[in-house]
Amino acid sequence: MSLKLSRRAALAGAAAAPLSATLAATVTATIATPVQAAAPAAPSKARAFQIGDFTVTTLLSGSVARDGMKEIFGGGAADADWTRVAEENFVSPDAGQFYFTPTLVTTPSSETILFDTGLNAGSITAALADAGRTPEDVDVVVLTHMHPDHIGGMMSEDGRPTFANARYVTAAREYDFWAAMEAGNRVGDLVAKNVTPLAEKMSFIDGGGAVISGVTAMPAYGHTPGHMNYMLESNGAQMVLIADLANHYVFSFARPEWEVRFDMDKAAATAARREMLGMLAADRLPMIGYHMPFPAAGFVETRGDGFRYVPVSYQL
Ligand SMILES: [Zn+2]
Repeated sequence: MSLKLSRRAALAGAAAAPLSATLAATVTATIATPVQAAAPAAPSKARAFQIGDFTVTTLLSGSVARDGMKEIFGGGAADADWTRVAEENFVSPDAGQFYFTPTLVTTPSSETILFDTGLNAGSITAALADAGRTPEDVDVVVLTHMHPDHIGGMMSEDGRPTFANARYVTAAREYDFWAAMEAGNRVGDLVAKNVTPLAEKMSFIDGGGAVISGVTAMPAYGHTPGHMNYMLESNGAQMVLIADLANHYVFSFARPEWEVRFDMDKAAATAARREMLGMLAADRLPMIGYHMPFPAAGFVETRGDGFRYVPVSYQL
């Protein structure tokens, strides 16, 4: 079809040779002027939101296309129900896109906090640069949990700590679980390389513990043994960082009981999802989810027996 059209176009062009010559000269002149052919700027990997005195900046450290969504997010789902939820929400039942989004929290009066560190040092450093920051600006690194996509940026490629000035905060039960892994476990080995060498700079908190004033841990165990969420609270404004509580913006909200392959304790993860998403919907609080489509911030509403994620537009 396109071949036929171009042949026709070529014939028409031959019949109007003088005009073609003029056009060719114009095109050549345009191409030879680089100012007119400037490439569009790459989209920013940083997006800032204001929550009271907290500036909350989501940092895209990577994104990757995946298929087999039902095998990952639809454990226990009936085929017909799975397809219906996908169609109702305008997504493919098979193909999807993963996002990896650490969050920076800054305030005029306290330490600068980075929640999780992305896939590797290079990608989190590049996203920080888009926010006008460097790894040296980070005072505290909070690890919501220790899966590789959250601790991958802790060490640079030459084995030095990426965040040279940082102290670290995580849940004791998370650290204890992974630090006790025998060699050969994929996650345990990365923890041994990226996390345990920093143990003496690390402090441990439980649910209710504060990182700084206004940043409070909320237990959300199940995804991993010590996975925690964080409430941000400033001047009466609130936001919850839900980390990996819900890992797909359609399926994990619509059917919180569908089992997710990455959740280690499926029943506990489902219970935590229902409880947290229920609270976010009831209180109409904004949230940031580590694996939500960038910029990874939104709201939650109830829908039927489940929920629906409503991405931010210009509210924050
Ligand atoms: Zn994750």
